[in-house]
Amino acid sequence: MQDKRLTAKLPSEKRDVRARMVREIAGRIVSGAWRSGAALPSESALCAKFGVARSSLREALRILAEKGLIEVRHGFRTRVRAYECWDFLDPVVLGARRETGSMPSSVTQELFEAGAVIELAATALAAQRARVEDCVRLATVLEKMRHSMNRPIRFGWAALEFHRALLQASQNRVLIRMADPIRDLLGYTVPGIDAPAATLQLVYQEHAAILKALRAHDVHGAREAMRVHLSSIGLRYAPHLGSSIPNC
Ligand SMILES: [Zn+2]
Repeated sequence: MQDKRLTAKLPSEKRDVRARMVREIAGRIVSGAWRSGAALPSESALCAKFGVARSSLREALRILAEKGLIEVRHGFRTRVRAYECWDFLDPVVLGARRETGSMPSSVTQELFEAGAVIELAATALAAQRARVEDCVRLATVLEKMRHSMNRPIRFGWAALEFHRALLQASQNRVLIRMADPIRDLLGYTVPGIDAPAATLQLVYQEHAAILKALRAHDVHGAREAMRVHLSSIGLRYAPHLGSSIPNC
């Protein structure tokens, strides 16, 4: 997920400089180095720091203002806005928080909870509605996971494909559309984890249990299998996430 304004048609060098300015200034704000209400350095000081023309700096400041991080007022110094004004789910804001180690655990938890609500609902629907071809597709992906135990990155992509196939099996296009952005945003908040083969074996078994229940059209069993899987994902990322699976 990228901000289209950061990738608009500009020569790549200019685009890189602008994106770097946005990232650096956002990092100083979200880390608290530049506090709420404080004035940013003058435009000329910032232009000198980044080695850019005033027009490039103003474009970067406009992007930051749209994310709620700063307030630009003609004739006044640009100021940092209060935390409550920040677009807390914006990828630049999330990325800056992750890079500066200032990600509040509540953001990760809320995204995780929202993702879990969707996954649990989609699993229940899939258990009712899965067609033969849906189960065949899920079984094919599960096999891919089994053959990737020693290749964590390939395993991770296959696991993601399993969840996407499961959402498709729910035949609810709204849930399908809602799941991807939440998953993408969650990716901005948590670091990657390097799972050993023994963990991947457990993850594989959790997915296999979900598929077994889906094939039997066992709605309760499928939801429980997904709940167990989501709890173990949460525990691997952060202990407090494992116990925050919504009871719905
Ligand atoms: Zn999974």
